[in-house]
Amino acid sequence: MKLATIQGEGGARVALVDAEAGRVWPVAPPAWAPQPWGMLDVIRGFRDLRDTLRPEGPGIPLSEVTLLAPIPRPARNPMCVGKNYYDHAHEFTRSGFDSSAKGAADAVPEHPIIFTKVPETVIGPGAPIPYPHGVSDQVDYEVELVVVIGRGGTNIPKAQAMDHVFGYTIANDVTARDIQARHKQWFLGKSLDGFCPLGPWIVTADEVDLSDMPVRSWVNGELRQNSNTRDLIFDVPTLVETMSRGITLQAGDLILTGTPAGVGLGFTPPKFLRPGDRVKMEIGGIGVIENTLEG
Ligand code: MG
Repeated sequence: MKLATIQGEGGARVALVDAEAGRVWPVAPPAWAPQPWGMLDVIRGFRDLRDTLRPEGPGIPLSEVTLLAPIPRPARNPMCVGKNYYDHAHEFTRSGFDSSAKGAADAVPEHPIIFTKVPETVIGPGAPIPYPHGVSDQVDYEVELVVVIGRGGTNIPKAQAMDHVFGYTIANDVTARDIQARHKQWFLGKSLDGFCPLGPWIVTADEVDLSDMPVRSWVNGELRQNSNTRDLIFDVPTLVETMSRGITLQAGDLILTGTPAGVGLGFTPPKFLRPGDRVKMEIGGIGVIENTLEG
């Protein structure tokens, strides 16, 4: 099942998506639903709602709706994993921007590196990423598979981790490299306004095969990143186990699982983003999200 948040007349609405047919069906909130009722409510109540969510009638052409981020304003900071693909870990350490490693020997982390971004970074497909003039001139892109937590929990063992995953979507973990390097901790450089395009929708976990999902990004049509989820250093169960140790995960929490090689800083000279650049990201089995830098 694919679930999107679309712009409706009275505000954001949850909708079922058939990407192949190019159609969406807005979901009517159940009688008992609080107002406003959105994706976080669907995730929290999914066990009861699941069987009621089915397309009825002709729906609306996908081309006629505005997609918002599937969770337009997460309740908590999106949690992110640094250096979680082997090729990118080496690329990042080689670039000299990596304050988490002393050199090539410890480029690949022993334990997952976790940081967060503020929820206000989240924007939807097609929404402009504001170019941070005067704040950073080293803006970079990172295509990432995003885990959406369904059932919350604490100290979730790897073997049960997948029972807590609601589904998956795509994020661009936009990064100001100069700020990231200057401040050592990554929070500031990752949290500028609009620095987390998210979407185009959530695909429920039952429809996703994590062992083989192509992960790609393009800038102005030029292929930059071309990898596969099979190359993750720490897999999804390991990440859920790690992040839930002594910290209660909640329904709707987002885990950005890291990016593969091919980001702007990996090129010589680096290929950072400029105003007007179009960034397209695709993960097989999920879809495509595209955003333009504006300013
Ligand atoms: Mg990242």
